[in-house]
This record gives sequence, structure tokens and C-alpha cells, in this order.
Amino acid sequence: MTTPQPLTPQRAHTLRLLLGDQLNPEHSWFATQDDGVVYVLMEVRQETDYVLHHAQKILAIFAAMRDLARHLREAGHRVRYVAIDDASNRQSVPDNLAALMAHYGAHTLQYQHPDEWRLDEQLRTWGAEQAFAVQAVSSEHFYTARTEMSEVFKGRKQWLMEHFYRRMRQRHSVLIGEAGEPEGGQWNYDHDNRKPWPGTPALPPDARPTHDHSALWATLQAAGVQSFGNPQAHALRWPLNRAEALAWLDHFIATTLPHFGAYEDAMSTKSARLFHSLLSFALNTKMLRPHEVVQRAQAAYHAGAAPLPAVEGFIRQILGWREYVRGIYWAHMPGYDERNALGHSMPLPEWFWTGKTRMRCMQNAVGQSLEHAYAHHIQRLMVIGNFALLAGLDPAAVHRWYLGVYIDAFEWVEVPNTVGMSQFADGGLLATKPYVSSAAYIDRMSDYCSGCHYDKKQKVGERACPYNALYWDFFERNESTLGNNFRLGMVYRQLQKMQGPQLDALREHAASLRTRLDAL
Ligand SMILES: Cc1cc2nc3c(=O)[nH]c(=O)nc-3n(C[C@H](O)[C@H](O)[C@H](O)COP(=O)(O)OP(=O)(O)OC[C@H]3O[C@@H](n4cnc5c(N)ncnc54)[C@H](O)[C@@H]3O)c2cc1C
Ligand code: SF4
Repeated sequence: MTTPQPLTPQRAHTLRLLLGDQLNPEHSWFATQDDGVVYVLMEVRQETDYVLHHAQKILAIFAAMRDLARHLREAGHRVRYVAIDDASNRQSVPDNLAALMAHYGAHTLQYQHPDEWRLDEQLRTWGAEQAFAVQAVSSEHFYTARTEMSEVFKGRKQWLMEHFYRRMRQRHSVLIGEAGEPEGGQWNYDHDNRKPWPGTPALPPDARPTHDHSALWATLQAAGVQSFGNPQAHALRWPLNRAEALAWLDHFIATTLPHFGAYEDAMSTKSARLFHSLLSFALNTKMLRPHEVVQRAQAAYHAGAAPLPAVEGFIRQILGWREYVRGIYWAHMPGYDERNALGHSMPLPEWFWTGKTRMRCMQNAVGQSLEHAYAHHIQRLMVIGNFALLAGLDPAAVHRWYLGVYIDAFEWVEVPNTVGMSQFADGGLLATKPYVSSAAYIDRMSDYCSGCHYDKKQKVGERACPYNALYWDFFERNESTLGNNFRLGMVYRQLQKMQGPQLDALREHAASLRTRLDAL
């Protein structure tokens, strides 16, 4: 029998891995101090390179990891931080872990359940081959367990968000009256929401912190890490720790939440954000817990500080959509990210990387994504995703672009939104019909069309808005798959009436557009 070796400052009995999206300083791991435990954070090429990322995404994640490491050390914990340019860095999570386990002579490795299938699979298979104990624990972040959705929707063909959301409201007593009814008498206030923004009310101030991370940016460049988009390294605007995230949450609730609902679908050249929260980065990196965000929004309604339609609309995004898409992801991975129900295969036009297109809506939505690593939901869905679906772009390429460009993009939330909701590539599991529109919707909800090179009213011709011909052509091309969808009856009846020269001209124009997407 071997006698356990006494701990020296260099040795440890347990290593605990913290991934770049596991930055919750209030995880129960940190409730007690143990000199035999070392927390490990690492900046690795495995994570910077699995897709081409926006520069701000890499910068913000690494800067926030460094901040958490500092915070943990100050709180008395032992931390091993492997920086991207450390000589000992093997640039892969398992390789670094293996080396560190040997270095510290540890017998147990613990990690929090990763939210991406890719990492979960990697750690599980690698862990099973090790001689030491490898244990996975909860990240203590979400309302629901990974597998819960499969149980809720067992045997159902369609997994409707509304069904799941009402269940969540009841189960967690969110906006629920004493008799179990939804507060205000309705589950959903969409008819009060979804207005265009006419220029008033005034835009809320952007009180997010500003960080100078030019030194980290120089390190990343020297290490040869590739990225795209504006790094804004001198003035990075994302909250990088829990205290900053909480302050930003409070500011949002006080200044912006009251108008969130009314303008949640509006788009404007005057503001990238309008009345959205910009909380997704802090939430997805787990600096904030969804429960506290929901509770604060609910409290604002109860205190009379925000109207019910705004609060319900906001809470639905977090208690409903966010948990729902995660459930979809875990129930259908692996393989969900590769679905392509409509057989689309066109490559992304070059201007997805530059924003240089004459379509003003795309110029704005893609342009601000490259500039800020952010676009709000309707820009992602009804401008960029809409165009990608109508034009027949390869959903896997669209998915990789979304996964790279947005500050909040992690596969568990990005894939269902892109592949399912936006590209209908799962054949309608998540969305009951494709989210597509012609210019009319974009014009109603934004100021993009006035001042655009293209004419929102024209359907064919050089100056016709490309969305118009592509819209009808999309439904005609996909009639065998979509024709029987009960939500599309009106579209197909209209298409029937257009048979003849009108539809021929639209088809011809759409075919011509699809051959020259780069030039639009
Ligand atoms: C094609 C496409 C791709 C997307 N990719 C991502 C992604 O990679 N990461 C991501 O967090 N969100 C993604 N979304 C959802 C949504 O667009 C973003 O959560 C939102 O724009 C983030 O900005 P915000 O914090 O200002 O959100 P707000 O509009 O203020 O909403 C509040 C919060 O609700 C949550 N939320 C809102 N809508 C959704 C949704 N559909 N799914 C999940 N959570 C939601 C987010 O946590 C968000 O922070 C995507 C949507 C589409 C259509
Ligand atoms: S006219 Fe068409 S291309 Fe131009 S902004 Fe409007 S929807 Fe976009």
C-alpha cells in the first residue's frame, strides 16, 4: 500500500477546470478554500481556432478569464492560469490537463459540464481513458437540466416553445398570480409589442464599462491568433466580471426595460441596440445567472417601474427561448448542426466579411456585427438570416459565420437559433414555418429601405429589392417540402394566382440574383 504524499506548495490533490464560458465566481466550488485544490484556466488555440472568431469575442473571453483568475487568487484560492503565450502551453485542453495533473501529482480532476457538445464529448472520452478520477459537476447556471426537454416533448413531432414556456412560468412561479393564472390574464403580450421605433422615446445611454485591452490584443497577434471584425481593443465595451455585469443589469432594468417590449422587433440605422439589454455575453459566460435577471425584471414590474408587456416579453426570452434552445441542442446533438433539410449549398457572399453591399439593411446589420460583434435578434433573424435562407446559402456556412461573429455565440444557443429557427434546416422541428419576408416587413420595422440603392416596391429589374423576387422564388422552389404547411396556405394560394408571366419573370430575376450575390 502506498502512503499518500503530504501536500507541498507545488502539489495538489485535485485540479478543477474552468472553461472560458464558466466564469461564475459564486459557483459552490468557491464556497470553501482548500490548499489541495488548484483552479485551472487556460487560453488555448483549440478554442481560438475551431471557427474564425470576431476579435472582440476572443479578447472579451480571455480578459474575463484573467479577471476571474485574479479575483479567485485575491479570495485565497490557488489558481493556475495558462496564458496563450506560455512556453508550457500545449494549446489543447486535454494535453494541458494531462501535463498539469502530472505536474501537481493530483489524483482527481473535476470539471463543470460544458455547454457545447464538442467539449463535452472531448472531455468525456479523454477522461474515460485516464488513470486518475475524472468527475463532472453541474455548472449551476440553467433553470433546466440538459435532458429535460426530451422528457417534456417525448413522442411529439413539433417542440413548441410556447408549451415549454408556460410550463416554466408555472413551475418557477414567474409572473403567476395566486390562483396559478398568468399575471395580467395573458401568457403573451406580443400584440402590444413589436412596434417600429419612430425616433422616440429617446435611446437609453450606454453605461457599459470601457476597458483598454490593447496589451492582450498585442499578445494575441504575436501568438498568431486569427480573427475578424473590429477588435476595439482600446475601448472594449463588454462587462468582464460579475460586478460589472450586475451594474449593467441594474442600469438596463432602470433605464431600458420599460421600452424593451414595444421596440423589441424594431431596427434603426441610428442605433445598433435600440432597447435591447446587451446581456447575452454576461449570461452566456455565466457571470450572471438567468434566475437573477428574471427576478429583477419581475420585481421591476411589481414595483410599477416597468409595464407588464415589456417585462413579460423580456422574461420570455430568458426563461423561455434561452432554456428551450438549449434543450433542443442537447436533445438533437450530435448532427443537428449539420442538418440541411432544404438542401441549400450556396457559399456566403464575400460581403459577409466586409459589410460592403448595396442592400442597406444588410450593410447595417452585417456592418454593425463586424463593428460591435453584436446585432439584436430581429437583425439576426429577419435581415441576415432571412437573406441567407431566401438566397439558399449553405446552412453549415451560415452557422459558422454566426458562431464566429457574435460576442454571445456558443454552440448550444447559436446552433438551434441559426440552423433551426433562422435557416429551417431542421425541417421545422423548432420553427412552425420559415422566418422569411420580402422588403415589406423590413420596411415596416426599420428605416433601412429609405435611402437604399434598391427599391422596396419593385419585384424585378436592376433596382428591385432582392428580397422580393427571392421571397417568391424560395416558396416556389420549396413547394414539395413546404406546400402542405398549414401556416403557409395563404402564401401558396397567392403563388398560385401569380402563375404565368409574373411568376416566370420573378423566377428568372431570382435565378439571376443567385448567380451574382457577391455583387448585390
Ligand atoms: C440566427 C440567430 C443566431 C443567434 N445566435 C445567438 C447566440 O449565438 N448566442 C445568443 O446568446 N443568442 C443568439 N441568438 C438569440 C438572440 O438574437 C440573442 O440572444 C440576442 O440578440 C442577444 O442580445 P441581447 O442580450 O441584447 O438580447 P435581448 O433582446 O435583450 O434579450 C435578453 C436575453 O434573452 C436571451 N435571448 C433572447 N432571444 C433568445 C433566443 N432566441 N435564444 C436564446 N436566448 C435568447 C439572451 O440571453 C438575451 O441576452 C441568435 C438569434 C438568431 C436569430
Ligand atoms: S429595399 Fe430591400 S435591400 Fe434595400 S433596405 Fe429595404 S429590404 Fe433591404
